[in-house]
Amino acid sequence: MAKLILQNVEKRYETFHAIKGVDLSIDDREFVVFVGPSGCGKTTLLRMIAGLEEITGGDFSIDGVRANDIPPDKRGLAMVFQTYALYPHMTVADNMGFALKMAKVPRDEIKAKVAHAAAMLQLDKVLDRRPKALSGGQRQRVAIGRAIVRNPKGFLFDEPLSNLDAALRVQMRTELVKLNKQLQTTMIYVTHDQIEAMTMADRIVVLNAGIIEQVGSPLELYNNPANLFVAGFIGSPKMNLLEGVVTARDDRHVDVTLDDAGSVTLVADRVNVAPGTRVTVGMRPEHTALVTDGPIGGVADFVEHLGNETLVYVKRPDGRLLIVKADDLAGVRMGDAVTLAPRGDRSLLFGPDGKALL
Ligand code: ATP
Repeated sequence: MAKLILQNVEKRYETFHAIKGVDLSIDDREFVVFVGPSGCGKTTLLRMIAGLEEITGGDFSIDGVRANDIPPDKRGLAMVFQTYALYPHMTVADNMGFALKMAKVPRDEIKAKVAHAAAMLQLDKVLDRRPKALSGGQRQRVAIGRAIVRNPKGFLFDEPLSNLDAALRVQMRTELVKLNKQLQTTMIYVTHDQIEAMTMADRIVVLNAGIIEQVGSPLELYNNPANLFVAGFIGSPKMNLLEGVVTARDDRHVDVTLDDAGSVTLVADRVNVAPGTRVTVGMRPEHTALVTDGPIGGVADFVEHLGNETLVYVKRPDGRLLIVKADDLAGVRMGDAVTLAPRGDRSLLFGPDGKALL
């Protein structure tokens, strides 16, 4: 069991307000990812949960017990760092069992726990090796194994995969998610990589400048970003954002005339927006198509063939680039005049304050 509740949690350094009143409830067994740009406070928040950073305001509880002042080693949470911090002179088995040895756990029990964790992490064949004789992925697994043997209530990961190559990162992503289901423990995972967040999380917490912008499942954030920040942060390539003004509204549609020529008609039966309102239209590259006679024009500035898909960068009259994702683009070449059409049912609308209107 580890249910973690943060209420109005703050972190003030002497001259800097790093975390500005965070409210968050993390359920037992949940896999929660903190994501956000560099400096947004995700590591600080994780370290406050771990007990490695003082909480300067608000309340933090673990399973209903106020934990603000509980020392890190008494919180029952295990932290796994980006740098694995393994002891180079010890074998894998000794590295994994070290904390138990310090806690005077009987030798047989340590051996059994290490063997169990090693089997789970496919480290059973390398238990006698020293860290320098391991691959990067294996070292990362040893660091995780060292946490598992302590049987913590929750795991806290600080960018644990950033030192691995791309292929291994993808593999470890899946393994960590499986581990979460297998161990049935709460996991909090910090990353600046929104793809990692999307693929791993039960729920994503998007942080920006010390505040939470939105909390939700990956698909909630993708389909219904609460504001322009989340809209721009989640999704790859990034959502296209164009400013304009609402020119017409009926029961089912909103027409927007774009500042830089062109228009978009959005399907919108719930949104309450009057003609004349200044808005930003959000169109994901995968929901925008190159068509003949589309309502938005530009010039194909760059065409990027990725194999399974093609990205076309379309330069607008004002010089801004829009991205269109397509799987079949026979015939589009750099310099061609093109027109495009966003899907009216998948385009999003944001008000003057940057908040989502649909
Ligand atoms: P990154 O992805 O770059 O690691 P982050 O989101 O994890 O970024 P934090 O390391 O949590 O960001 O830092 C949040 C903010 O707090 C940053 O602006 C940082 O400069 C500031 N900060 C961190 N530690 C201190 C400190 N000891 N004193 C003052 N400010 C600090």
